[in-house]
Order: sequence, then C-alpha cells, then structure tokens
Amino acid sequence: MTVHFPFQNTYSALPANFFARVAPTPVAAPRLIKLNRSLAVQLGLDPDLLSTPEGAEILAGKRVPDGADPIAMAYAGHQFGHFVPQLGDGRAILLGEVVGKDGVRRDIQLKGSGPTPFSRRGDGRAALGPVLREYIVSEAMFALGIPTTRSLAAVTSGEPVMRETVLPGAVLTRVAASHIRVGTFQFFAARGDTNGIRALADHVIARHYPDIRSAERPYHALLSAVIGRQADLIARWLLVGFIHGVMNTDNCSISGETIDYGPCAFMDAYNPGQVFSSIDEMGRYAYANQPRIGLWNLTRLAECLLPLFNDDNDKAIEEAQFILSEFPDKFTAAYQAGLRAKVGFFTAQDGDEALIQDLLDAMAKNEADFTNTFRHLGNAAGDDGAADVRAQFMEPSAFDEWATRWHARLALEPQTPAERKAAMHAVNPAFIPRNHRIEAVIQAATMNDDYALFEELITVLAKPFEDQPPFAAYADPPLPDQRVLRTFCGT
Ligand code: AMP
Ligand code: MG
Repeated sequence: MTVHFPFQNTYSALPANFFARVAPTPVAAPRLIKLNRSLAVQLGLDPDLLSTPEGAEILAGKRVPDGADPIAMAYAGHQFGHFVPQLGDGRAILLGEVVGKDGVRRDIQLKGSGPTPFSRRGDGRAALGPVLREYIVSEAMFALGIPTTRSLAAVTSGEPVMRETVLPGAVLTRVAASHIRVGTFQFFAARGDTNGIRALADHVIARHYPDIRSAERPYHALLSAVIGRQADLIARWLLVGFIHGVMNTDNCSISGETIDYGPCAFMDAYNPGQVFSSIDEMGRYAYANQPRIGLWNLTRLAECLLPLFNDDNDKAIEEAQFILSEFPDKFTAAYQAGLRAKVGFFTAQDGDEALIQDLLDAMAKNEADFTNTFRHLGNAAGDDGAADVRAQFMEPSAFDEWATRWHARLALEPQTPAERKAAMHAVNPAFIPRNHRIEAVIQAATMNDDYALFEELITVLAKPFEDQPPFAAYADPPLPDQRVLRTFCGT
C-alpha cells in the first residue's frame, strides 16, 4: 500500500506569477517524531500508512506523493513596519490542498523542506526546536478553540542546520485553511498588478467567504469579512494571554487563522506591556498593542483593494476608511463579551467594563498569573475558593476589595455558583503552553533525543479546560530561575 493524498489543487491553477514551482529537497534520514493521527483522519489520510518509512519520507520532503503540485507561494509584507516587496515561501513548500471530512479545503505544507526561489540568503531549513514549538503551540491553540493553522507531523531530517550553534534539522507539516496572507495581496499591489489582486480576491472569496459571492459589492464585503475575523481572532488571543510576537503583514492570515508561530508566547503574570520576542525591541507587538497592529495590517490590506473598490481613488479611500472604522467596535465587542464570560457574567450590565478593568489593573499591579487567576475565580464564585485567587496577588487584599463588588454584581443574576463555575471553567483554561515547559521539551529533544516531555505536554494541552490532577504541576507558573525572558524567531 502506498500513502494516498486526495489532492484537489486550486492555488497552483492561478496565474504563474502567484508562485514558483519547486520540489522539496530530499533529506538524509527522515524520522517521524510525531504524527497527529486525529488530524490525519479528519483530512482523509491514513495515519497507519503515514507512520510507515514511506510516510516519513513524504513528511520530510524526500518523496513527493502522487497528485501533489509543489509550489512556493509569492508574497510581500511589512516587517516591523518596513515594506519588503518580495518575501515568499523561503523555506516552505505547499504540496497541495485536500478537502477534509468536514468539507473544508485545507493546504498541506512542508515547512523546512529546502530552498526555493524566495529563500534569499536563508537555507530553506528549520531547526528541531522551532518545529516542536510550533507543533505544541498551534495544537494548544486549537484545543483552546482559537482559529489556527494545525500541525500534522514533525519529522527530523537526519541533517544538521547551522544557526548560532549546530542543531538537528526538522520539517513540520502545517495544515491551514490557506496560506494566503495580507502580504500576498501586497505582492500584487506593489507591482501595480490589478488583475492579480482581482484574481486573488476572487479565489479568497470562493474559498473562505463564499457567502459574500452574491454581495452587491463583494470586494468591500471581503474587507469587512476579513476585519471581522481578525477582530475576533485578536480578541481571543488577548483573552488567553497570547502574544503572537511577529504580527508582520506577511504573518496575518486572510482566513483569520493564527499563523506563523515564531517567537510567540503566553504570558504568565498579567502585564499589558509584555514582550518576549528578542527582535521586538520597540515593543511594537506587545500584548496590549495587538489590536492596534491588527488594524494597521488591515489598513494595508484595504490599500491593496482600492483599485477594486472604485475607479475614483478618493471615493475608494473613503469607502475603505468607512469599512476600516468597523474594526474597533468589532474588536471591543468580542473582547468585552469574552471578558464578561471569564468573570462569570451571563448578561451585560452597566458598569461591567469598569469592574473588569479594575480586576485587570489589580492583577497587573500585583503580578497575578493571568491563567490561574481566572481559573481559580471560577471556584470563588461560591462562598469558598477565594484563597486560591488571593494567592495570585502579591498583596492579596487587592483581590478582597474587588471580590466584594464582584459578588454584588453576581447577585444580580439567578445562576447558582455551580452553574457559574461550570461556565467559567469552560472559557478559562487550566493549562496553557507555558514558555518554561516548551523550553524543557526543546532541551530534552535537542540535547538527548528524548521526546517523553513533548508527548506529555501535548497530552495535557489537548484538554486545557479539564482539571487533570496527575498533571497539576503543568498549571504552575515558572519558578524565578525557570522564567523565560526572551523568545526567538523560528529561523
Ligand atoms: P518568518 O519570520 O518565518 O515569518 O519569515 C519571514 C521570511 O523569511 C519569509 O519569507 C520566510 O520564508 C523567510 N525565511 C525564514 N527562515 C528562512 C530560512 N531558514 N530559509 C529561507 N527563508 C527563510
Ligand atoms: Mg512568516
């Protein structure tokens, strides 16, 4: 039996300047580290066959499966605010698209599979650490219910990659609703290629926003729809303490999925100004700056769409500005609704926003752990359980003062403490991929070829909303000497 991928490729049928046809570069000794069996089944793939040596060769890019049409996608992008007219897949190759059991079309892409015409000075490869990191965090995001690319497999290549030190090479198989980015539109806009922009927009509408095909002004509706998904996505990031780290326009997905896990991180102690990425010196992509940057990126998308909006450029700009002005309301609605759920409110009432902000302010001042404060708050909805919340605060009385007002607000609703706790535990995870745990996984894998911690972490994070007593230590924040202060790009 050979591995069969039911490919149905559409992106590679777009005009030739959308991509470069290029096959993965074979590697020495592929070894399967992890296969996401449930995702394989969802995609209509046979996990047993993918686990064979032939499957590992495919997942490492050593063998191209039948029906694949391997391409590197062209895109541009603003990196930290500076425009680069050509980026593109420099170390990723799209094998093709499959339509899953749920009827959704998804890209299957190898990341780290060798150089492409877009590699510039890069080697086209990925190191094991960043591959494991992306596997862990993307699958954790999925389990948290947040739109994201997925990880189908991680393989080691049997070849070293040269970074600051020599590291084991690896390939990640990434699955995405598509890999079309704001930067993909920018690639054509930078070349004045209006036909390219239109062809891309039509492809995106058919693929991601089929409902707007019949809209009176489909391209305006497209911008509005992407704004809606990004506003919702970024609100969800904030609600779990996630910091993307490199919100460049080339890392901003048109489908509304979280994409390109580089120096991303979840915060432990709540700090709106938190930055982890070593290259984000100005804090452009700090936790609380993410909505503002989201709007900045969407404004770049709107600029690309202007020629499709109106032949009169001034009118086109006016129309774009009107649509962009929807972002703050959409974001705030999603974020505030999420916060209300986190503190156990079933209704929206006057004063909620200020009350919740007071909690967040007290948490910041007291370096309270973001995840554990909200998780324990569910237990505190009744008469007991407050002790665990208090313990998150440097000055526990800061919580007591707030808790009195919170209980008065809860009393306005009929739900029992048990109902409230269940609702709160369904939105406040017990487990997130904490940086120090990810670092420990990467150390064990890279230094000792040991994947036991990797497997255990993935198992815990697959059920983030369930208390898992045997794994309770995974909810602990880092000890002072375990604290990760900086994270690095996946290059
Ligand atoms: P990223 O920081 O992963 O979003 O990547 C930014 C750009 O650099 C993209 O065009 C990547 O394809 C490219 N790139 C990153 N790492 C490598 C590498 N090792 N080899 C070639 N290109 C790379
Ligand atoms: Mg990228």
